[in-house]
Amino acid sequence: MLIDTHAHLNFNAYKADADEVIRRSLENDVWLINVGSQYSASKRAVEMAEKHCEGVYAAVGLHPIHVNEEEFYYEKYKALAKSKKVVAIGETGLDYKSEYVSSKELQRTVLCQQLDLAKELNLPIIFHCRLAHDDLIKILSENSSPTAGVIHCFTGNWAEAQEYLKMGFYLGFNGIIFKLNLDEAIAKTPLDKILIETDCPYLTPLPAEALAKAGPLRNEPIFVKYVAEKIAKIKNLSYEEVAKITTENAQKLFKI
Ligand SMILES: [Zn+2]
Repeated sequence: MLIDTHAHLNFNAYKADADEVIRRSLENDVWLINVGSQYSASKRAVEMAEKHCEGVYAAVGLHPIHVNEEEFYYEKYKALAKSKKVVAIGETGLDYKSEYVSSKELQRTVLCQQLDLAKELNLPIIFHCRLAHDDLIKILSENSSPTAGVIHCFTGNWAEAQEYLKMGFYLGFNGIIFKLNLDEAIAKTPLDKILIETDCPYLTPLPAEALAKAGPLRNEPIFVKYVAEKIAKIKNLSYEEVAKITTENAQKLFKI
């Protein structure tokens, strides 16, 4: 069994066939967590999770690239998070890509609100961080009792990885490891601190596209196996070992 710890089947890319994609995932022994990016997508993730007794979970949160579009309604998210199928707050964090950099201050405020919510509800956090590791590390290290969590789609360097690991966070890797060279961080991060994910519909692992011979291909949870394979190769371990330990890591962090 594998767990795709970061999927977005709650997005419009799956409007027509989300049920089918979920069925395919579960049939292939791949569990998944649909992650919210706004209130509507968070709500949809919860609804999808509640339709299934096992294997489909949700995270609720406001993504840093959306903080200019809507407020973080603490009580509304709190109400959503009351569902037993909500296993994390997120994705939240910081995104300093040029088009979002003007909302830096607001991003930090909204991140801190979500840290508070996670603490209140005793839930782990799924962090998104782009071009902002210094600030995220600073905020997390200054936080009095940081909650557990994962730095999803980790693309930082080994020095940054070590800062997160020191604070007890997991690092999440996805298909981007076929495009960027993250071998050092993957090789040096202990396997018991690694989660695997797809971030679907984005970041399709290159081997999935090569096999389909179809050019750009929409990503989906079953392709998380390619991420596990690549990590096994980099760490010189068997695929089975990586599958087993990363699944246990996800079960432990998200209590599933
Ligand atoms: Zn995401």
